[in-house]
Amino acid sequence: MTENRSAHVPDPLAPEMIMRNGRIVTVDERFGIAEALAVQHGRIVAVGSNEEIDGLRGRRTRVLDLQGAAVLPGLNDSHMHLPWFAVSKPPYKLDLSYPNVRSIRDCRRLLAEAVARSKAGQWIIGEGWNAECLDELRADPARVLGKSDLDDIAPDNPVYFIEFSFHNAWVNSRTLESAGIDRHTAAPEGGVIVKDPKSGEPVGLLLEKARDLVERVRPELTREEVKQAVLQNARYLSELGITSITSAAETPPDVAMYSEIATAGRYPVRLNLLLMWAAYGLGGSLADLQEALRYVGTGSGFGNEWVKIGGVKIFADGIPPARTAWVYDAYPDGSHGGLVVQGAGDEERLEHFRRMVFCCHERGFQVAVHACGDRAVDAAVQAFIDALRRKPWDARHYTIHGDWIRPETMRRMAEWRLGHTTQAVIKYSISDTIDRLVGPERSGDQMPLKSLLDAGVVAANSSDAPCASPDWRIGLQYSIVRESRSSGTVSGPHQRLTVQEAIRTYTILPAWLEHAERVKGSIEAGKYADFCILARDITAIDPHEIMRTPILMTIVGGREVYSDGTLAIR
Ligand SMILES: [Zn+2]
Repeated sequence: MTENRSAHVPDPLAPEMIMRNGRIVTVDERFGIAEALAVQHGRIVAVGSNEEIDGLRGRRTRVLDLQGAAVLPGLNDSHMHLPWFAVSKPPYKLDLSYPNVRSIRDCRRLLAEAVARSKAGQWIIGEGWNAECLDELRADPARVLGKSDLDDIAPDNPVYFIEFSFHNAWVNSRTLESAGIDRHTAAPEGGVIVKDPKSGEPVGLLLEKARDLVERVRPELTREEVKQAVLQNARYLSELGITSITSAAETPPDVAMYSEIATAGRYPVRLNLLLMWAAYGLGGSLADLQEALRYVGTGSGFGNEWVKIGGVKIFADGIPPARTAWVYDAYPDGSHGGLVVQGAGDEERLEHFRRMVFCCHERGFQVAVHACGDRAVDAAVQAFIDALRRKPWDARHYTIHGDWIRPETMRRMAEWRLGHTTQAVIKYSISDTIDRLVGPERSGDQMPLKSLLDAGVVAANSSDAPCASPDWRIGLQYSIVRESRSSGTVSGPHQRLTVQEAIRTYTILPAWLEHAERVKGSIEAGKYADFCILARDITAIDPHEIMRTPILMTIVGGREVYSDGTLAIR
């Protein structure tokens, strides 16, 4: 041996792996940058200079020479829907999301390929299109998507293309036929079957509840297929450096699936689950919740470092593009949206919603509420505070989405240690639409991350995948520049974050939301060895370059789960 590397530490105690020669963005209190770190038993045991960490090396210690690459804590997507995300990708569905698809032409090409490998009559389902991201519609705003874009390519297969927000669908003639939709069909309440003004024929665009007509007849995936998708599509998350997620709206069969996955082997992503028993979106009820909770003997935190029960998700309202988010200031059409739980009228629904929150809080569940409108956020925050007054514990209840939140509400959220998660990546793709819907000023305060952080609220970023890409680099860049995807228009310059703040919204702040800030979210001794290794230090480059920064390697619990081949642990 040319040097006595184990001089300081007897071999059994030496780290399994060290990383050296990098720019390690620790995301600690001072946002320090380190050169090297050491890992033992899946945890970080030391962070420091090359020299300090080299001193810990034993004979069996493996070494990752970072060659100047940057290391972030493993990214944490604090709100997404894992099973839906998993089946939103090929081979289960065509990926119509941007940037995979940029035009109707692209959609037609993917459809033609799918038709070529399908049998006649087989359904072809796609997901993720966004009118704002399709060239032809941007060039001609009067143009409407329809069956005429699909019929010539797929005359014999029902085609069902679901919009990114899951509110609208674009279908062909075979699907209209299968669903029994013709010129005489009336749309279900809350839905629109778009029809040609001259002929009265359905054009192939189904809005909101009109989608239910197709949902009733489309084929469903089996539980085993969903499980296989969850297992296989984890690689998309690993490729992005994501090592933790909160998956929301999980039902009892989902939880059974995760426990099978967790016992079968090592899944590359740590899972925090938000349970949900009520009907999705509309019609949540206290009775359903009480009945379900009778069979659950544990509150938040049950599980292990790989899969745990985080809490319960409750829907308060709808979403702004559909004008169903509950807001104080009316939408241009004079409506205000409303609560979506059971009850006749706002007052009854509000009381019902509050009792649902209390019911979970009292049983030891953290509560995460889907609340988009400022009025829905206020209802949730008031219910959280009242619950905490009755029975104080470190619940960290939080709101999800919060497109608009009043400054006074933010102050109260901070005071009561309530959290929030929002989706800059969605704002990025809908910003121009929202500018038109509510005007640039109100749009500028949509997803007010800066105001929340300044008020002292723990506000995290997330993707809501499959509603948007889980590629955190997009949301992170957007949080810093707030330039819209299609026109580059800046929305709310006063809501821009610094790069340090933006990184925190994807690391340490989501860790706090899941009561895990002591074990993840920063690179400090004692925490899980979860890392995302990037080609460049994103704290030191033009923020417009963040989206294009290559991810070189992902490590979870000290184990490499993705590498692009640039670096190697030796
Ligand atoms: Zn969601």
